[in-house]
Amino acid sequence: MLEEQNRDTICEPARDIDICYQADVVVVGGGPGGHSAAIAAARNGAKTILLERYGHLGGMATGGIVIQIPHMSDGGTEPIIAGLALEWLERLDKVGGTLRPSMQDIGSDDAELVSRWRRFMGNVINGRIEHTAWVDPELLKCILNDMTEDAGVKLLLHSWGTRVLVEDGKVKGVFFESKSGRQAILGEVIIDGTGDGDLLPSAGADFDSVWDSTSRSSMLALVFRLGNCDYQKLCDYREGDPDQYQQLMKGLAEYAGTRLLPLPSPRNDVMWVNNWIPGLDCTSVEDLTTLEVKMRKIMRKGHKFLKENVPTFENSFIIDTAPQTGTRGARRLVGEYVITEEDFKTSKKFEDTIAVFPRLGRPGSIETPRHVYIPYRALVPVKTEGLLVAGRSFASDQMANNMANLIPHCIAIGQAAGTAASIAINEGISLRKVDYHTLQKKLLEQGVTLPGVILTEIK
Ligand SMILES: Cc1cc2nc3c(=O)[nH]c(=O)nc-3n(C[C@H](O)[C@H](O)[C@H](O)COP(=O)(O)OP(=O)(O)OC[C@H]3O[C@@H](n4cnc5c(N)ncnc54)[C@H](O)[C@@H]3O)c2cc1C
Repeated sequence: MLEEQNRDTICEPARDIDICYQADVVVVGGGPGGHSAAIAAARNGAKTILLERYGHLGGMATGGIVIQIPHMSDGGTEPIIAGLALEWLERLDKVGGTLRPSMQDIGSDDAELVSRWRRFMGNVINGRIEHTAWVDPELLKCILNDMTEDAGVKLLLHSWGTRVLVEDGKVKGVFFESKSGRQAILGEVIIDGTGDGDLLPSAGADFDSVWDSTSRSSMLALVFRLGNCDYQKLCDYREGDPDQYQQLMKGLAEYAGTRLLPLPSPRNDVMWVNNWIPGLDCTSVEDLTTLEVKMRKIMRKGHKFLKENVPTFENSFIIDTAPQTGTRGARRLVGEYVITEEDFKTSKKFEDTIAVFPRLGRPGSIETPRHVYIPYRALVPVKTEGLLVAGRSFASDQMANNMANLIPHCIAIGQAAGTAASIAINEGISLRKVDYHTLQKKLLEQGVTLPGVILTEIK
């Protein structure tokens, strides 16, 4: 057995690195946050490069097989989250890659519709149809590529961003590793879309990585998919005997050793199984390895239990495990504003609001504040210039992050980051000097909804 080395250090020899590109905006990480930042920056005229460590885009929404894009409305008839999130779905609809209520049905309390969609988690709220979509991850990879090409983003896949180049407190480029070796790209603005805030340490930006070990976002996962299922049959069974179904799910968790939640997909015969593994850190290679090994054991036990005990899984088989580890939370930027749980509970509005989300877990009363607001300052580091975050590393306390780091949230945050970067470059100003009113106006022009936000001109 190999013993872990004691923690002596060794000096890596300095060397010259090729600069392979020079861009206006360099985005590292092609998940919901990073991809959206790159699209928005390029559509607003910035020469943009997007680096992604894997061979596909989409982050958790594709490689993580997290295929529910939820809570884009609040029970009313209007979408609350639109912009690029809605564009993803509209493009996917055209290739048969979604299962979602039609836009005319959002907010409806029609009994037949409600009973049909109640079978899908997150599609009904307070007795009304909610805008939640289930998507095909392989088709989503294709449409994200299409969007990148259409917007003129230069894409480098299989490229792992390692650290940033900082001069005089300003981030000026990114080093990355690939099969072509170690290279550098220079940029006016660097956007950290890694989800995990991988660039924050080398940028000298302050961050917080403390998580309450019981929170959803502190837990890792390895999603897997099952084929030859019949989701509607499972729903019939669950509705016929909810207590028995609950008992079976309890038995499944006990037998497998952790909670496993079978969920639907756009295909009735394919399901994905969500899971939550506590006590591991997604920025530790040891813990990532533990997760991959442990979860595959759990998967085999869980699948055996499902096959033997739960109607619909009798003849099912394991299709695949997600190529990307399920990472829900890592480093959170310390930004010019750090969003708190209290801000969300009280629906605090900000003059620099760049995204509005339905408040999750809200009580039914119409008087209760129903939205939460994200300020642009939560994407801007306190002291480092030339850097923004896009996605789940936005500046927030643990609980606020836990409440607003879902896929549509990260798309919206990314769209704002890319748009802000393009404004800063066009106007030759620092990212922290971007005029909120101009940013909000540009977001509205791009189909983003900012309900309840009164646009204020800042001079
Ligand atoms: C198991 C699980 C279930 C979830 N369930 C849901 C759900 O049902 N619905 C929902 O909306 N949300 C869900 N979430 C949360 C949601 O998926 C994430 O919060 C969201 O995807 C975050 O988006 P992001 O762009 O910030 O990060 P990510 O999706 O993690 O994307 C980051 C991207 O950056 C790349 N990257 C990372 N580091 C580097 C690097 N150093 N260099 C280059 N590239 C890099 C990654 O490969 C990835 O493509 C779930 C998460 C998990 C893990």
